[in-house]
Amino acid sequence: MRDPRTVPRRGAPAEPGAQDSYGSLEVSEMYCARCKRAQPVRQHLLLVLPNGNQYEYRCSVCASSVGSKQDDDPTAFAETLGLGG
Ligand SMILES: [Zn+2]
Repeated sequence: MRDPRTVPRRGAPAEPGAQDSYGSLEVSEMYCARCKRAQPVRQHLLLVLPNGNQYEYRCSVCASSVGSKQDDDPTAFAETLGLGG
């Protein structure tokens, strides 16, 4: 009683360009007060909110917080709740 049409295919090849690993021009360097110079920063997801995600930027050298931002994209929140499916 196997119907191949209902079996989800595993290992489907990923579409090239589907995932943008370097598509968005995010902040890559910010001024670090502790280092007293611009340093490469790492983006950390702080909070997933119903109306957007809050990110924190930390100096990749000394790991001190150099800034934060919040976007208006609620999709991550919906995915966290398991909605949208
Ligand atoms: Zn620093």
